Amino acid sequence: MTPSDGAVFTDGLRPVDVLTVVAVTDVTPSVRRVTLSGAPAAIAAAGPTVNLLVPRVDDPEPIWPQIQRDGRIVWPQGSHGVALRSYTARRQDPAAGEVDIDFVLHGDGPAAAWAAAARPGALSAVAGAASLAERPAGWLLLAGDETSLPAISRLLAAAPATTTGIALLEVAGPEEEQSLGAPPGIELRWLHRGGTAPGESTLLVDAVAALERPPGDDVFAWVGAESATVRAIRADLRGRWGLGRAQHHAIGYWRLGRAMGA
Ligand SMILES: Cc1cc2nc3c(=O)[nH]c(=O)nc-3n(C[C@H](O)[C@H](O)[C@H](O)COP(=O)(O)OP(=O)(O)OC[C@H]3O[C@@H](n4cnc5c(N)ncnc54)[C@H](O)[C@@H]3O)c2cc1C
Repeated sequence: MTPSDGAVFTDGLRPVDVLTVVAVTDVTPSVRRVTLSGAPAAIAAAGPTVNLLVPRVDDPEPIWPQIQRDGRIVWPQGSHGVALRSYTARRQDPAAGEVDIDFVLHGDGPAAAWAAAARPGALSAVAGAASLAERPAGWLLLAGDETSLPAISRLLAAAPATTTGIALLEVAGPEEEQSLGAPPGIELRWLHRGGTAPGESTLLVDAVAALERPPGDDVFAWVGAESATVRAIRADLRGRWGLGRAQHHAIGYWRLGRAMGA
């Protein structure tokens, strides 16, 4: 967790960084980009992975938690009307005081519902941030669904131009594909779920299973998708590919049929 610069602690607690919605745009039919504005230090600290606090849409008066010096969140007693969810800053621009977060509009979970209803002037808050846990490597495997496209877009943008590898990107269909900048040696392969529900397709697992391990040890795999999918891919990469812990980061971004966190 990274408290924003200059955070003031009172009795060992500091307020969360409250951000204001300044724009809402639809990137694809199921992905909504919410641009949030705040102080430059708060925006610089809001990513790449963000512990985002979203007010419940049916609660007009959220009570924000506070943050301890060790980064832990201290929730108010009783009902507070706030949900904590993990998201990714697709773009952070501290000079402009803006951060973009792309929300998959998947249903009525607190975060998806908040994004669906978001309008300029609405508030959310950041309660901490973390890295994408990437490691530099000459050959990269990136695999994910719509929820990890913001992270994958950042990993692709940050990869040196000489990087080779493949990005396996599962989306519902061609209308959900996004334009991603990438080194020329990284193949972008879009996989279309069609009528299969999110979290129920084996496209990503099958696509990784069909890949041969690249030679040498200068390899890193980054995977973010539904939890069961990630577990299967992780097992394949550790077993068949023999990747060590430092050579992969595979994390469940959401869990079919289960709400995340608080
Ligand atoms: C590190 C990290 C970064 C993430 N970054 C992003 C991001 O940038 N953009 C983004 O959209 N998501 C991102 N996610 C995923 C996001 O946190 C989850 O989708 C989260 O569950 C959404 O919260 P919610 O309140 O809308 O739904 P919840 O209350 O958590 O869940 C309600 C129901 O919705 C289902 N559900 C949750 N997500 C999906 C989905 N994508 N498709 C279908 N059903 C779903 C659950 O299974 C559950 O049944 C990230 C997750 C992690 C761990």
